[in-house]
Amino acid sequence: MRDVQIGGLVSFTTIDYPGKLAAVLFLVGCPLRCAYCSNPHLLELGPGEYDPEKVYGWLESRVGKLEAVVFSGGEALMQGDATISFIKRVRELGFAIGLHTNGFYPKMLERAAEYVDWIGLDYKATPEKYEALVGNRVAYDNMIQSLEYWKTTGKDFEVRITCDPRFIDKNDLIAIVRDLSERGVQTVAIQKYINHFEDSAHKTTPEQREQFFNDAELRKTVTAMVPNTIWRE
Ligand code: SF4
Repeated sequence: MRDVQIGGLVSFTTIDYPGKLAAVLFLVGCPLRCAYCSNPHLLELGPGEYDPEKVYGWLESRVGKLEAVVFSGGEALMQGDATISFIKRVRELGFAIGLHTNGFYPKMLERAAEYVDWIGLDYKATPEKYEALVGNRVAYDNMIQSLEYWKTTGKDFEVRITCDPRFIDKNDLIAIVRDLSERGVQTVAIQKYINHFEDSAHKTTPEQREQFFNDAELRKTVTAMVPNTIWRE
């Protein structure tokens, strides 16, 4: 089995795993091509910049200092068994394990679940707009399968919606949160879209990006459906 390929690392964060001091490992490879991707250098499945054994040794030195390790990407589950066996080893050090995932690999999520304590799952758009945003026809169905599977584990999670005004309007946001509410989701994070790599033909304005966060009526509607809604600006 090939080693896990790690393309990036954040050594300390308080915002990537709820309530825990964490490190984040960014694994290379992603099956999607989201219009707003902030990590385009991680999308191709190829050699990672970091030696996994050195990263593991560094994590050993963080025992007692950090509480969690979050696997992000790219899409960490795209590397399959290489990811799962590394997660397992890291968890054996005593860290809580978080996974940021786009939900594209529900079967792989099932295999990893035993070693993962919390996930942040992306729900990127309404079903009608999903393909246009992520460039993949089955991504929505796979994400819903992942969501429904994760609910059966009884483990904690949040569902994240990034408000890219080119693909989400306020009615879309309400429709997504309604769907999540009907599915019994307890925690939703509404994230501000950051215009990292916009080309001149598809520019957004600050007003468009901020519209979701300065609308008291929208906040009230959303929070009425899922009381534990986090507005992440
Ligand atoms: S799922 Fe994440 S890493 Fe993959 S293309 Fe979309 S934003 Fe980028």
